[in-house]
Amino acid sequence: MKRKRSILVVDDNAMNRELLSEILSDEYSVIEAENGEEAYRLLEEYQNKISLVLLDLVMPVLDGYGFLDRIKKDRRLATLPIIVMTGKGADDEEVRALDRGATDFVHKPYNAQVIRRRVASLIRLRETASYIDQYQYDRLTGLCTKEYFCELAEEMITGHPEKEYDIICFDIENFKLYNDIYGAEAGDRLLVLIADKMRTGRENNSGIVLNGRKIADRFISLVERGRVNEDMIRRSVDYICRENDTGSVVRIAFGAYQIEDRSIPVEKMIDRALMAASRIKKDYQKVYAVYDDDVRTHMLRERAISQEMEHSVETECFEVYFQPKFRFDNGRLAGAEALVRWEHPKLGIISPAEFIQIFEKNGFISRLDKYVWTRTCKQIREWKDRGLKIVPVSVNVSRANLYQEDLAGRIEELVAGFELDKSLLHLEITESYYMENSGKVLTSVEKLWNNGFVIELDDFGNGYSSLHMLSRMKLDFVKLDRQFIACQLEDRDKNGILKYTIEIVHNMGIGVIAEGVETREQAEMLKSMGCDLVQGYYYGKPMPAVEFEKLLTGR
Ligand code: C2E
Ligand code: CA
Ligand code: CA
Repeated sequence: MKRKRSILVVDDNAMNRELLSEILSDEYSVIEAENGEEAYRLLEEYQNKISLVLLDLVMPVLDGYGFLDRIKKDRRLATLPIIVMTGKGADDEEVRALDRGATDFVHKPYNAQVIRRRVASLIRLRETASYIDQYQYDRLTGLCTKEYFCELAEEMITGHPEKEYDIICFDIENFKLYNDIYGAEAGDRLLVLIADKMRTGRENNSGIVLNGRKIADRFISLVERGRVNEDMIRRSVDYICRENDTGSVVRIAFGAYQIEDRSIPVEKMIDRALMAASRIKKDYQKVYAVYDDDVRTHMLRERAISQEMEHSVETECFEVYFQPKFRFDNGRLAGAEALVRWEHPKLGIISPAEFIQIFEKNGFISRLDKYVWTRTCKQIREWKDRGLKIVPVSVNVSRANLYQEDLAGRIEELVAGFELDKSLLHLEITESYYMENSGKVLTSVEKLWNNGFVIELDDFGNGYSSLHMLSRMKLDFVKLDRQFIACQLEDRDKNGILKYTIEIVHNMGIGVIAEGVETREQAEMLKSMGCDLVQGYYYGKPMPAVEFEKLLTGR
């Protein structure tokens, strides 16, 4: 049954209270008070459970006017509807009461119909208003919601054609991990801290016109062109790293969209700013990127790459390089990662960082992956035949492949075809936002694991990683992402997230590989934190098979 709303009737005359109670009690639960003092106490007691007050003006102890004055000062009660009850013809009483904050009035003697209707409409009005309030402002941070932000931003942009604006968006990297490790409440406090910083920025006239929260850890601002610069952003991020109560390093990537065409919907502008931000996610030295309208050049390049890919596989323009992995404890070679290289006769050397993304979009990645797996197996077979003491090689398995039926069976067949043991081909899979929601991917990984393949979770700590995922997946190793490591190790005293992540992963019985280690300092810190394996330029770059062989024979 629906809970009845509560109405507070304040009158020193018991007969009047009874009468009103009778009129209203079918629809509402009626609470009674004899004077303003008692009424105020009841409001405190019931907090915001009272929907409306019916108020007599002349009462002992504290009269209606005194009560209105007190309510006015109390911000929590500012929106509470109050109907004053006056005698017929007491116009100046009404005016005085309205002046002091009453919402409406009714005359004595009471007309049941009129009272019911007024009460109902005032309650409805207030509730819609507070609904609007919810729609406009985000509960947690008090910033504008995305919808309201878009509305206001559009008004600003079209209302001030003489001014130039940018949309700036940012989100916290590893926010999920932050929540996992420090708890959701600490995560909320971090969001509030950021929102407060944004508000202060606006109040201090720093060029911020409007702030909002898009969703979760994504924030948006409308700023005057050129007023918010990289320096300011860096200082704000430093502040957030310093002031958050966990003392953890927080990395935030900012993207800007410079508004030229004012007819584009604000939502689209936000998407573009976020796109710019996502481009620097792989580069922790940068905090700020601008969306350039160079989409055309981008598209042309993408098309050229897509046109050449098939032919390049057929003519074996793709090479497989090997990057060694070592054990931290005894420094011995423990394995390698197979990384594809593309040397195109016309386009030159194209970085996987560029083409893998494109192949993931156009679907060609499944084909390329299989090509790399086959080449890798062939290479291992050859080394074995030549009597070299081989190590397992990890290959990358892209997401598209994880969606394919019977992936486990196919890889098994491939390995068997070269008469190799399954333990020699490790599989690196990349976690993503979608993974958490995709039972299919999890099943696929589980199947591979059950079939005896060693599974490594790639790029952990980058973007959407969560520790929760690890418990849902069958895994042997977690590979810590290069940027994640670098960013966390940057500040010696503040490597909480990294240290805890390693600890928790170990506690789950999963091994830890540090990736992209470039300096001795990094290596020593990671070793002291208990990482098992290491891969990175400091130990060895990706190299052609003939180079890598030297490491095999040199053991
Ligand atoms: P990944 O799987 O995370 O591979 C590691 C990347 O980090 C490689 O870049 C490697 O060369 C680089 N790296 C290793 N150590 C260091 C270091 O100390 N410092 C720095 N700065 N970088 C280091 P690469 O080869 O350019 O590959 C980029 C990405 O392309 C890979 O990231 C992977 O996601 C993808 N990729 C490469 N080969 C394949 C493939 O055969 N199949 C699939 N699906 N993806 C591939
Ligand atoms: Ca990898
Ligand atoms: Ca990786």
